Amino acid sequence: MKKNQMPQIGLPADACEMSGFTDKDTLELHAADGVLIFMKDKMTALEVAAAIQSLSTIASDLTVTLATACGLCDNCGDVAGSDCGINPAECVAFCDLCSSLLDESQMVQVPDAVRQEAGIPMDARLEAFAEEDSGEIIVTESEIQRDITDVPPGILSVLAQSGVCLAELDELILREEIVYGK
Ligand SMILES: [Zn+2]
Ligand SMILES: [Zn+2]
Repeated sequence: MKKNQMPQIGLPADACEMSGFTDKDTLELHAADGVLIFMKDKMTALEVAAAIQSLSTIASDLTVTLATACGLCDNCGDVAGSDCGINPAECVAFCDLCSSLLDESQMVQVPDAVRQEAGIPMDARLEAFAEEDSGEIIVTESEIQRDITDVPPGILSVLAQSGVCLAELDELILREEIVYGK
């Protein structure tokens, strides 16, 4: 990225003061999925440490926001056989609905050649149907192309280990509900 090609962006003075940026600093824009982050293009060890702290605070606040939107799993409403008393993480592990969402073997998979033949894109999610006792399984491109499997595995496991209801998370993703800043 050439610096002289950067667009001029006015940043609020109080925001710059809080971040410790002055007009002597050159800022660097970091673009990643879902965020644009300004940082100084030259930082001391302490400044880097402070930046790490700030980013991790933001990340943990966002995790709390997401977890709160989903709520804790209560064995997905099934009181019988609930292990929620032990600890929240076990509740998710023992909840049939939540644990099935973590089980990748539940995803429909077919050989690439068959996919190509059917004209279904390689990255499209599949859905399988069967008529009772027909001896046939029909696989189609799913109408739902976004679900819990799009959540990065690391985030998913943090949520599951905190007892967050994964079925609710899946539902929020399907409904594309606003969970931040609503
Ligand atoms: Zn649940
Ligand atoms: Zn559940």
